[in-house]
Amino acid sequence: MTDRYGVFGNPVGHSKSPMIHADFARQTGQDIDYEAIEPPVDALAEAWRQFFADGGRGANVTVPFKADAVTLCDTLSHRARRAGAVNTLIAGGNGLTYGDTTDGIGLVRDLAFHRVSLTQKRVLVVGAGGAVRGIIEPLLNEQPASLVVVNRTAAKAEQLAEDFADLGAIQGGGFDSLKGTFDLVINGTSASLTGELPPLPDSLFAPNAWAYDMMYGAEPTVFLQWAGPRGAKLLDGLGMLVEQAAESFFLWRNVRPETASVREMLRQSLNVV
Ligand code: NDP
Repeated sequence: MTDRYGVFGNPVGHSKSPMIHADFARQTGQDIDYEAIEPPVDALAEAWRQFFADGGRGANVTVPFKADAVTLCDTLSHRARRAGAVNTLIAGGNGLTYGDTTDGIGLVRDLAFHRVSLTQKRVLVVGAGGAVRGIIEPLLNEQPASLVVVNRTAAKAEQLAEDFADLGAIQGGGFDSLKGTFDLVINGTSASLTGELPPLPDSLFAPNAWAYDMMYGAEPTVFLQWAGPRGAKLLDGLGMLVEQAAESFFLWRNVRPETASVREMLRQSLNVV
């Protein structure tokens, strides 16, 4: 029997997840169906109950539901509780749902795919929203020399640093607190969505540094367009998207799909107008 999965988002029409999971299912021979579900923004709970009552086995959760999903899950993984966000749901027995987050592991796997090591590197994360909360623990697990988080609203970055201080060397503050150079700068703000650039100093990148934008699109983001001429090597968030999906697929099916061909397929589809 075909097992049912899906993604909850609003709007969800743009989501690449159905395409990614269809490819994973094909290459691993798993019999699944994966659909896009768009509940009204204030009605995730009803759509969720219906989906699992109808036999749904698991789902992804995307904007704007990642924080709401935390309150609807019956149990949470340690990393989802800490991140305060859920992007993967798994149907347990007795109608219970288990929530996890795979965004952070997706980022770290993507960096590994591109052979970007974090160990003993100076890492800067720009932004302190929901997505950034999910990447801090996996980043600290890679034992960087230091992790600095800066945000437009400085208090959010300071709070985040406090919340994760037990895991490693992390500092948080506003843009005016930025000093020194970094080996990896991750843009985790949503500024790229509106074509804006966070106020970053010109001398941010150490020699051989990487600039990573968690957003992706057919064109390089404003942040990557800015970072290139300043000497950084560039990566966008498309690989993170594929790797977080691969981790969700593994949690559901206990089979790890291959990601290189899916990256290629998505990259090509982005460039087809
Ligand atoms: P949130 O709305 O939770 O957070 C937005 C963050 O961006 C806040 O830190 C906010 O600062 C900051 N920000 C917004 N506009 C500006 C600006 N003009 N200048 C400076 N800072 C700004 O969003 P998310 O955390 O959910 O998402 C952030 C990004 O990550 C998005 O681009 C999203 O597409 C991407 N993402 C990519 C994934 C992938 O798989 N590739 C997965 C998840 C997210 P403040 O706190 O001051 O408001």
